[in-house]
Amino acid sequence: MLVMQQLTKKFRTDDVETHALRDFNLNVNEGDFIAVTGPSGSGKTTFLTIAGLLEDFDSGSYQLDGESVQGLNDKALSRLRNEKIGFIFQSFNLIADLNLFDNVDLPLRYRGFNAAERKRRIEQSLELVGLQHRLKHLPTQLSGGQQQRVAIARALAGEPRFLLADEPTGNLDSQMAQSVMALLEQINQRGTTIVMVTHDSELAKRASRNLVIRDGRASEQVVNQRAVSQFASA
Ligand code: ATP
Repeated sequence: MLVMQQLTKKFRTDDVETHALRDFNLNVNEGDFIAVTGPSGSGKTTFLTIAGLLEDFDSGSYQLDGESVQGLNDKALSRLRNEKIGFIFQSFNLIADLNLFDNVDLPLRYRGFNAAERKRRIEQSLELVGLQHRLKHLPTQLSGGQQQRVAIARALAGEPRFLLADEPTGNLDSQMAQSVMALLEQINQRGTTIVMVTHDSELAKRASRNLVIRDGRASEQVVNQRAVSQFASA
């Protein structure tokens, strides 16, 4: 579970102060698929990078699976991030001159897994995204949708409890976006909690919860029956 209470984040650039998040409250429950929408500049990416322990915050509290994030040193934050969080981005962030196997392998090497364990995780995650036959291909030899699938495999190889996605379909045409969304739904059904920032309101409707961020504050919209039943049981 991911719990943020009264979270505040300000950016200061020269003499300009931007209040990116204010009194931000959110409970993400195990198994949720949350779509985050909101106007440009409202704080969506700031929220996601704080949730992913890539950015600190000014005040309020944040607990990840019962562990308070405040006061953790860089080593502890990095351990928590590695154990719990997977990230995917709009721009895929693959290394152009590494093949698929090595792209997925990179963060696993960094974490110090042995060769057999890395191979198991790489093959399993590339199989899940349907690219097990392309291990030796370079990212440039794949379509945008396939590249995003590799990025998803790379995130899943870490076996995260939370998959945080910043506009994962933003660079894809609508057919590829649909197929990446179907893959994310499948991953969610297998037990991974997903928080996805998107500008696509149709895709957002397919999530179990819809969070709208405006001026750095979160509010929830009921979008479908699954969400209604979640509120009823809350
Ligand atoms: P978009 O939909 O356009 O990607 P967003 O909702 O993700 O926007 P954020 O990127 O979270 O919005 O930005 C929230 C506010 O914080 C904006 O006003 C932005 O200019 C500001 N901001 C974000 N990062 C920084 C930074 N590193 N330095 C200064 N201001 C920042």
